[in-house]
Amino acid sequence: MTDFEGLTALVTGGASGIGRATADLLAARGARVAVLDLDPSGVAGPLRAYTADVTDDTAVRDAVAAAAAGLGGLDVLVNNAGIGAQGTVADNDDAQWHAVLDVNVIGLVRTTRAALPHLRRSAHAAIVNTCSIAATAGLPQRALYSASKGAVLSLTLAMAADHVREGIRVNCVNPGTVDTPWVGRLLAAAPDPAAERAALEARQPTGRLVGAEEVAGAIAYLASPLSGATTGTALAVDGGMQGLRLRQT
Ligand code: NAD
Repeated sequence: MTDFEGLTALVTGGASGIGRATADLLAARGARVAVLDLDPSGVAGPLRAYTADVTDDTAVRDAVAAAAAGLGGLDVLVNNAGIGAQGTVADNDDAQWHAVLDVNVIGLVRTTRAALPHLRRSAHAAIVNTCSIAATAGLPQRALYSASKGAVLSLTLAMAADHVREGIRVNCVNPGTVDTPWVGRLLAAAPDPAAERAALEARQPTGRLVGAEEVAGAIAYLASPLSGATTGTALAVDGGMQGLRLRQT
């Protein structure tokens, strides 16, 4: 199974969780893969690691240029780096809004801007953005995070329209709650981690959290020439939350 033989990919936030699972899967399927992360020190094996904060435009441009040079081009960009925020609009101040939007929204814009000249030279160019079910679900206590992912969904559609004639496809995945170090940190901070985990599991019709490798599988499909006729879509990987919502109410 070598769907990505001869192709190259860059995964932001690729040192942990969904990004790491995606980088590993693309490499296992034959791609040459680079990871861009705040701290890629744990990244090993065939993956190339580049250190950059997606809020730093110069660092992003340097890292993307170095990755494209090291890989010998760039066919796939996975915009996955992201951070969370909890609370209602009453709870987050301006500094928190700026900080989260700077990573989740403008960070995606920076890496895309830096990668576009390389993607334009590819015959199989694809961008996959890690969005979230939060973009459309109306989750409580997630106002800022939901707004950031709503912007990722809108950007996915706008970018798909802007670059379709250049042969660059743009799609996103909308995960539910995924078993990653991020969710591990959330659970560890909860008053009753076991009860919190059970509540998150119960929220998804499948009754379990999504595996990072299951999100990676969806990203790999959208990044691969197998989905060559698909652009401007959001693929739910949420244990049925979106598709089965009407049956839950
Ligand atoms: P994670 O915390 O396990 O991994 C995120 C990675 O991004 C880390 O390696 C981190 O160092 C990197 N990162 C964070 N800020 C960065 C920055 N400014 N510059 C460069 N790298 C940065 O998280 P995860 O659960 O794997 O989440 C990955 C993506 O999936 C995020 O965009 C998140 O919003 C999205 N998502 C996660 C879930 C979930 O339940 N875990 C659900 C829906 C969407």
